[in-house]
Order: sequence, then structure tokens, then C-alpha cells
Amino acid sequence: MTEKIILKDDFLKICSDLLSKGDTLLAPGQAEYIRIKDISEIILNTSALPPKTSFKSYAFPRSEPLLYYKRGKNDVQIIDINVEGKNIVVIGAKPCDAESLSIMNHLFTWDYEDEFFTARAKHFIVIGLMCSNFDEYCFCTSVGTSPVSEKGSDLFLIPLDENTFAIRIVTEKGNEFLKPYTEFLKDGNEQNSAMITKKVKFPEIAFDKDEVYEWLGNNFESPKWENIGNVCLSCAQCAFACPVCHCFDIVDEDYSYSEGRRMKNWDGCQFGHFTLHASGHNPRDLQSKRYRQRINHKFRYYVDRFGKILCTGCGRCSRGCPVSINIKEIVSNCKD
Ligand code: SF4
Ligand code: SF4
Repeated sequence: MTEKIILKDDFLKICSDLLSKGDTLLAPGQAEYIRIKDISEIILNTSALPPKTSFKSYAFPRSEPLLYYKRGKNDVQIIDINVEGKNIVVIGAKPCDAESLSIMNHLFTWDYEDEFFTARAKHFIVIGLMCSNFDEYCFCTSVGTSPVSEKGSDLFLIPLDENTFAIRIVTEKGNEFLKPYTEFLKDGNEQNSAMITKKVKFPEIAFDKDEVYEWLGNNFESPKWENIGNVCLSCAQCAFACPVCHCFDIVDEDYSYSEGRRMKNWDGCQFGHFTLHASGHNPRDLQSKRYRQRINHKFRYYVDRFGKILCTGCGRCSRGCPVSINIKEIVSNCKD
């Protein structure tokens, strides 16, 4: 890993150049990652908590057409859609969001490549920013990441003072990205940025992820699931806010008898109809079963399949839950 030094003003000049070239720039706002129109909107605030939603919808839109169709008398004409990825630069991604695309990439390239996701994801440049704040919902350290983690970032910023950043070059993509801007870079000294990162307070580790994995394997029928199911409203806010939840549904929308389109829409495993079969049978007919699925998927099944926890510890699902269901508490207390 190479480290360089860049003045904040020069970093903003890079952002300005990207805007003038037509690239999409995203940066964390309060509610969501906002699309930057003017560089004055770029704050680079290490103490901001994660926005209410992540930037996943820019790679995995809430709703998108997969194809259009026209029915003739004796045939159906399919009009394919070719997704053209455009450069998207995430400026100051929270470390708990930076890894989201690479975690979801396992699913979207597993048994079949979802080109709608990969065409967009490969055009992302993620510039992570050290995080210096957490609240009672954060638990990144319990799932193997941290406020200074570079996982998922192509470049990673660490403020050295108000006007200067260390910029760590994490990936080859990040290296290529910086090549036109070498005039703004000075050689850095990793020891200086390490002194800053060592002072960052981390959320205490709340649970042992391997013990949680074991517990889930032995407690499919635990009464705890019913206790949670009795409270949960099945609203799926938790899934929609989550940077790595990726359930979707595919439906055909007829405009008329002769034409329509096939849509891919976000879905959520907490919805009662999510596993409803055409026969009317629903294997997850109770909210207790649906919440059990959510936790098992994140902390056991995804680990079995891809060796990764499907959670970055961002705490969004708990911050936004209308009935204060707190995933960190549930997982931390599962054995009690
Ligand atoms: S946000 Fe809360 S109430 Fe809504 S589905 Fe998730 S856990 Fe249940
Ligand atoms: S499950 Fe909750 S804490 Fe984990 S990544 Fe999703 S929103 Fe964040």
C-alpha cells in the first residue's frame, strides 16, 4: 500500500474536475448519499454517523427494467436492455458502507452473473474516509471491520489536520484513478497517519461472531425467535436501509395485451408474502420464522456460502426500526 499527502483544496479540485467530466459523485448526507452538484456540498466529516441509507441503490436500483416485450400473433419479441455503467465516485464513504458492493458481489456473481449489478459496480471508485464517531447501534468491530478499515475502498482518506489528508492507495483501480492528478500528491509517511488512526476510539466488540454462528446452528427452534416475531411489524425498513441486503423480485408489467416490461424490484425477507408459494402455502408464514431467516442469512448461511458475514455493523436497521428491534442486542444476547 502506498500513501500520499493531499491538501483538502486540491482534493476538491479533483472532485471539481470529475464533475466537469460528467462523472457521478456521491457523498454522505444526513438521510442518504447525495448526488453532488457542487463541490461545496462535499463535507468530509469523520464524525458523522452513517446516513439513513447506503449507496447500494446506485449499483442495485430499487426498481429497474430488465427487458421489454411485445406480443405478436404467433410470437413474442424481446427487447434487451444493455446497462452501460457510468463512473460513480463515492467521496468519503463510511468504512461500514465501503465494503458493501464487494460483499453483495458474491451473490450477484455466484451461480449466474447479474450483469445489471456488475456493469454498474465495476465503474465505482470508492474513496473511504476514516470514521471517528459511533453510537450505541454501531458494531463494525464485531463483524471484522473497524472505523479505520480500508476494506472495499479503492482509496482511503485520513485527515492529518483541517486542511490536509493522507490518501492511502488501496487498489490498482485507486492507483489508476489518481494518475491524472499526481501534481496534487506529495509522498506521505504512513507513520503519521498511523498515529492518527491509533487514537480513534473503536466500538467495543459486542459479540463473538464464531460463537453466534455456532449458536444459530443449534437453535433453529429457540423461543427467542417467537419473542422477536411478536414485536416485529414486517415492514422491512431494516432490509431497505441495509447496505448489503439484496433480496429482489422479478415481475412482468403489462402495459397492454401486446406489450410490457420485466421489472426487478427490491424485496424484503420480512414481508409476509416473500416466500408465499403459488399454491398458497408459505413456509415462512410467521414473523418469527422470517426474523430467524434474516439473522441466519446474515450470520450463518452467507458465511457458509461465501465465507463473509452479510452485515457490516452499520446499525442502520436498528436506528430506523419503528419498534426498536436492535440487531446488535439480539445477536449479542442470543446465548443468554
Ligand atoms: S425494521 Fe424493525 S419492525 Fe420493520 S421488519 Fe425490520 S425488525 Fe421488523
Ligand atoms: S444488518 Fe443492520 S447493522 Fe448489519 S449491515 Fe445491515 S443495516 Fe447495517
